[in-house]
Amino acid sequence: MDKENNEVASNPETVMEPVVEMPAQAPEEAAVVQETLEVPKEKKQPSRLHGFLVIFFATLVTMIVTFLVVIVSNINLASTVKTAKENANESSDKYQDIRMTFVDGKITKEYLSEDEIKAENERIAKLEAEKKAEEEAKKKAEEEKKKAEEAKKKQQSQKKSSSNASTYKVPSGAKIVYLTFDDGPGPYTSRLLDVLKKYNVKATFFVTCNRAQYRNVIARAYKEGHSIGAHSCSHDYAKVYKNDGAFFSELQGVQNVIKSATGSETRLFRFPGGSSNTVSKKYNKGIVSRAAKELGKRGYAYFDWNVSSGDAGGANNANAVYNNVVRNLKGNYSVVLQHDIKSFSVDAVERIIQYGLKNGFTFKALDTSSPTAHHRISN
Ligand SMILES: [Zn+2]
Repeated sequence: MDKENNEVASNPETVMEPVVEMPAQAPEEAAVVQETLEVPKEKKQPSRLHGFLVIFFATLVTMIVTFLVVIVSNINLASTVKTAKENANESSDKYQDIRMTFVDGKITKEYLSEDEIKAENERIAKLEAEKKAEEEAKKKAEEEKKKAEEAKKKQQSQKKSSSNASTYKVPSGAKIVYLTFDDGPGPYTSRLLDVLKKYNVKATFFVTCNRAQYRNVIARAYKEGHSIGAHSCSHDYAKVYKNDGAFFSELQGVQNVIKSATGSETRLFRFPGGSSNTVSKKYNKGIVSRAAKELGKRGYAYFDWNVSSGDAGGANNANAVYNNVVRNLKGNYSVVLQHDIKSFSVDAVERIIQYGLKNGFTFKALDTSSPTAHHRISN
């Protein structure tokens, strides 16, 4: 800038011209020269830049405003369309007679005829019904799946409990005594029940169909909390071990007696002669092995014993029975075999109980999860 000022100042024409040498010059020309003199060159350039900036910013602002207007109007359009669609999608009774569609950036309204409204309502109702049916079918399938799973679980736990019966281990030192009485009921069974009641001791009775006149005693025993097990109907080895069919019809025979006395069948069983009997070989080879397997399948637990009173042979008085039992009681559990159709055996029971209670034993009735005291099957 300083350089330019110097150039203007050092130009002799510019300085000298107006006053002396050119007095006849036209006034316009003089004005132009004056203007030239008065306004320095550099003041003209900023004014052009300013104009350019004004135009530039005006354009920019216009573009921004236009842009905003476009966005806002789009939002409005979108929400309008959405509302129209929502209205149309609401339940059939709110369905409107105007169909609004958004085509090429414009909302198009269509007035529907009554038939069209009806058809549309029907279409919506049909869709809703289909959706509902689908949901119900899904729900049903889920319920059935759940049911099947529960049944499977139940079956598995039953299988487990029946296998538990043969593998059950009573902890050592438990001192549990299971008194069991076979072949009854008989004339001494009521007396036995009185003794058990006196000491609040529960026992187990493996009954037959014999001596029908004492069947009411089965009902009493059951009512007083004792367990009732099946021991065949006739207890006749020739009949019971004749064949598999005979074995299970003998079982069903005694189940009928038990059910009429107690209201339900039992799942406790004892083989006549025990599972180790060899007498059955005479009638049918392998019948005990097959029957034991089938009993398991049918949900039965069969029991033998690990303490014999000897009342079926060897012991023939109450003292002998008492000694055979108390001398052989186990530290973990004892399944004691006696017969309530033997008067002297029933006579020994009170002293056995007194001995047991005095020496820390607990008397219990058998159930399907009790220790089975199985013998080795010999047939
Ligand atoms: Zn028996």
